[in-house]
Amino acid sequence: MSPPSAVEVLLPVALDRALTYAVPEGLVVAPGDVVLAPLGNRIEIGVVWDGAPAAFDPARLKRLQGVVAAAPMREPMRRFVDWIADYTVSPRGQVLRMALRGLGVDAPAAAPKMGVRAAGRPPARPTPARLRVLDVAADGAPRAKSALAEEAGVSVSVIDGLLADGALVAAELPPPPSAPRPDPYRPGPKLSTGQASAAEALAALTLARRFHVALLDGVTGSGKTEVYLEAVAAALKAGRQALVMAPEIALTGAFMDRFSARFGVRPAVWHASVGEKARGAIRRGVASGEIPAVVAARSGLFLPFADLGLIVVDEEHDAAYKQEDGVLYNARDMAVLRGRFEQAPVILASATPSLESRVNAERGRYARLALPDRFGGRTLPDVSAIDMRSAGPDRGDWLSPRLVHAMAETLRAGDQALLFLNRRGYAPLTLCRKCGHRLKCPNCSAWMVEHRFRARLVCHHCGHTGPTPDSCPSCGASDSLVACGPGVERIRDEAVARFPGARVSVLSSDVVGGPEALRAELDAIERGEVDIVVGTQMVTKGHNFPKLTLVGIVDADFALGAADPRAAERTFQTLEQVAGRAGRGERPGRALLQTHEPEHPVIRALVAGDREGFYALETKARKAARMPPFGRLAALIVSAPTREEADAHARALARAAPKADGLRVLGPAEAPLAMVRGRHRMRLLVQADRAADVPAYVRSWLGAAPRPKGQVRVAVDIDPQSF
Ligand code: ADP
Ligand code: ZN
Ligand code: ZN
Repeated sequence: MSPPSAVEVLLPVALDRALTYAVPEGLVVAPGDVVLAPLGNRIEIGVVWDGAPAAFDPARLKRLQGVVAAAPMREPMRRFVDWIADYTVSPRGQVLRMALRGLGVDAPAAAPKMGVRAAGRPPARPTPARLRVLDVAADGAPRAKSALAEEAGVSVSVIDGLLADGALVAAELPPPPSAPRPDPYRPGPKLSTGQASAAEALAALTLARRFHVALLDGVTGSGKTEVYLEAVAAALKAGRQALVMAPEIALTGAFMDRFSARFGVRPAVWHASVGEKARGAIRRGVASGEIPAVVAARSGLFLPFADLGLIVVDEEHDAAYKQEDGVLYNARDMAVLRGRFEQAPVILASATPSLESRVNAERGRYARLALPDRFGGRTLPDVSAIDMRSAGPDRGDWLSPRLVHAMAETLRAGDQALLFLNRRGYAPLTLCRKCGHRLKCPNCSAWMVEHRFRARLVCHHCGHTGPTPDSCPSCGASDSLVACGPGVERIRDEAVARFPGARVSVLSSDVVGGPEALRAELDAIERGEVDIVVGTQMVTKGHNFPKLTLVGIVDADFALGAADPRAAERTFQTLEQVAGRAGRGERPGRALLQTHEPEHPVIRALVAGDREGFYALETKARKAARMPPFGRLAALIVSAPTREEADAHARALARAAPKADGLRVLGPAEAPLAMVRGRHRMRLLVQADRAADVPAYVRSWLGAAPRPKGQVRVAVDIDPQSF
């Protein structure tokens, strides 16, 4: 078969379809090859896509400029990109852009970083310098341009000349000397009976080389990590690769230690802030199979594994898996999909699984492996509620007498206490006592949050910040501004005031410095060098603090009142996870929930330790409301610099919505955050039966509706996390 004279190339731009390019003579390309293709007046990196071009006029086609990487984008990855684009109603090119970041070739600038090798043909003009270069390169091995120039004692321009001449060609550099590989044959810890049977089931799935999803549903401290590390070992023993996904990669220091305890080396780590050089090495390592295991954030989904044999999604319920800008996708769901395309099993692990995953297990689509008890005979914390209506603190304080008393007992016993409040900063709202003015962000419909450590006001939505004013910006009164409500910094102040001798640490993303500082802080807590930890959401994630025996939830009601149908689930997950930090060491733990609604079903389930009861109740409520996973939802967010523009386009969209059975469009109404970063936001909701194909509906709707003009934008969020 003669090579095609034209191919379809998908480019990482906001285009849904591939473009047709001519293949210059002498260039051989196949689907999946990463190529250089001219677009307008620039050169883009693109991928040869599947399918033959439609009729074309060869004379009018632009020509491909070359092949960038020998490691192509494999067929399962191409189908993965197609599928995500379809599902999220995003242009395929935009999804490709994310995937190329995984390949590590997302910019043409990546091309010159490639090496060169001898082409096996003499240069047109054999100068002594040129011959010296070809002499060095005669072994045919790829070298970096600068290395070759240095070895031959010439300048890089000589190398470029030979490249232009065709005596040298671009070639991918070999991976750097390989790091020691994880050893799956090292003995792991002795598993409990429950752990062992779960581990065996997982290993069997892994060895079957077949797509299958298992929900590893085990209470906090049940030893889920050791169980899925056995499955990783099984994949590595079978010569396949494993991807372990974690929601907040900066927080997984303790996980790295456990991985190295099990396999003898640390795993490769992949997330947004890994440096360019390390990214290249990981990309090459996973593509060659040299790197068998990677721990990654969301974007690790797009790594070009040669033979992916297992995906683990740890803390699968975590909202951090949802990417909230650009292509809106849930990495947990996409991991399941990638597993399907790769014929690899997927393990979803959590102490508080999403209702979606629980229901999938009930329907028999996922296997469910339950670990109902803590490892080593440890007990789950004893949870009780403190009714803030009758037993609350004095005015101006936030910690109730009972909680303070429990803290005193804990500290006296030499143990640690954790105070949890899901609110950063000192106070969520600052208002003027004289005129009632509230300090608001100029760009968002949100209050400015006082951060006293930094002596600034900060908007948590757009980052807008300014000094805390001395006088009211509205009426000019001085000393009239008061902080309303608590944030973690204020709770810290109260803890310090009540326990002057105690060592208090605040764990909040804006107080802790970089990942290093955080690691140091977590280590200090683990070693028992801190008495009271005050923390936000950040403390809920998988930490093991052996001396922690008391958890105080400052405001258990923080989300219960929200109009969001997932509010109960989120509250349950967060509080169960935070409470689950207590009593993981020698001594049993307890958790105290400060609440104004002790009779709320979520609070009652937490106090009774009745997680099955909670899931049963929540299932019933969602079923009745036809909310996910018993119905489908999508949101269309229309945004514009003015409310009028956003509103007008949202109305035009609503008018253009086609009629369809089992599906209705609600709105437009103001989005929950009506203004963000200076853009006004209106929202349309699609509510549908489970059988409906919502992405297809939205696609056809947008296809027939008027296009947004000027600064108006429409974002599609299939299965929004909160609404
Ligand atoms: P989970 O992830 O379910 O919350 P972990 O995997 O963190 O639980 O386990 C809880 C604690 O028990 C950890 O300190 C862990 O090291 C320990 N542990 C779990 N399984 C074993 C085992 N088989 N042998 C020894 N220690 C274990
Ligand atoms: Zn703002
Ligand atoms: Zn005022």
